[in-house]
Amino acid sequence: MNLILLGPPGAGKGTQAKFIVTTFHIPQISTGDMLRAAVKEQTPLGMVAQKIMESGGLVPDEVVLGLVRERLSLPDCNSGFILDGFPRTLPQANELAVILSASGKKINHVVSLDVNNTDIIQRISGRRTCPSCGKGYHLLNDPPRISDVCDSCGTKLVQREDDQEETVKNRLAVYDLQTSPLKAYYDEAGLLRHIDGSAPIQVIQARIRDILEGQSGDNP
Ligand code: AMP
Repeated sequence: MNLILLGPPGAGKGTQAKFIVTTFHIPQISTGDMLRAAVKEQTPLGMVAQKIMESGGLVPDEVVLGLVRERLSLPDCNSGFILDGFPRTLPQANELAVILSASGKKINHVVSLDVNNTDIIQRISGRRTCPSCGKGYHLLNDPPRISDVCDSCGTKLVQREDDQEETVKNRLAVYDLQTSPLKAYYDEAGLLRHIDGSAPIQVIQARIRDILEGQSGDNP
């Protein structure tokens, strides 16, 4: 099962991807996580990406496509994968189709998590991450046991540079302009399903499970 999770930053793609990984045993491919790892290691690619990410813009298509092409060629993707945060532009979507068809694959489902911008800004302002092990928290919905300290490794939690309010507004504008046209693209292909991303996490999980198990009751 090859799946794309669409949705603005803070819609809950990462959280739901983790649920799908454990339920359906397919890997999560998050281009944001891959780029953050490259920035942390200060690889040449990471150095190109860093400033763009901090401003909330999009890393050039060819850079992201290079990462995804390599990742999809690994054997753990043979039984399926979840794309989280990719594709984000129409050229990425077109090239993804080319990459997949070269190995006889295609996308089976596209799930759009819909959340309005006011809720997004509120949600993202509470997001915290462990800079050491990468575990994510939310001050209201998923707080650490000790305030500002990672449950897993005891490191002080930080707010992502690009989760500051002004940058989030820019990321949302970029999403509306460059990424939201993908909804029409995948709708025309008969693949798109919408989920209310402001529903409780368990409700969203049940909806995703229905869609992936082919019991959504929706018309394609
Ligand atoms: P995310 O963690 O998915 O919100 O991504 C964080 C940042 O990484 C984005 O704001 C972009 O700067 C960059 N990024 C992640 N995925 C992509 C992509 N598919 N295309 C271009 N830039 C991306």
